[in-house]
Amino acid sequence: MPTERTLVLLKPDAVARRLAGPILTRFEQKGLRIAALKLIQVTPELAKRHYAEHVQKPFYPMLESFITAGPTVALVLEGKSAISVVRGMMGPTNGRDAAPGTIRGDYGTSRQMNLVHGSDGPEAAAKEIAIYFQPHEVVDATEPLAPWLSAGD
Ligand code: UDP
Repeated sequence: MPTERTLVLLKPDAVARRLAGPILTRFEQKGLRIAALKLIQVTPELAKRHYAEHVQKPFYPMLESFITAGPTVALVLEGKSAISVVRGMMGPTNGRDAAPGTIRGDYGTSRQMNLVHGSDGPEAAAKEIAIYFQPHEVVDATEPLAPWLSAGD
């Protein structure tokens, strides 16, 4: 079971609906580690880099309007088989098809405004992490804080 890193976006609908915290909590409770995290405004240029494979598709103009409409939380999650674990937790693209218990299944009924993005494979993860984060922004696992916590007031 490989330890993987994956690029996750909490899209503008998740932030606007105050669901960034609950969705992030799900990933942490699953045991995935936050390796990088920031709040960003996606620009049209960034959207075109991220969604290069979709730029020519009929739905792209609406997708770009949506993903640039407000703040997005970008993060790198790390864990065993993190890429497929995150994809499973997200559910399928369309919230109407997504089973209860998945993020999209629990919080939405839209195909476009589906709250969350997760890389769909190792190649995409490497490419997408590099789009959103400088290498120094992705933090390696640190030593446990136990010695400091037990020594504190
Ligand atoms: N999308 C859309 N209309 C479509 C298909 C996709 O607006 O008909 C949006 C949706 O937000 C989706 C994103 O484009 O999450 C990327 O599509 P993809 O097929 O890669 O879906 P995902 O991997 O996010 O489930």
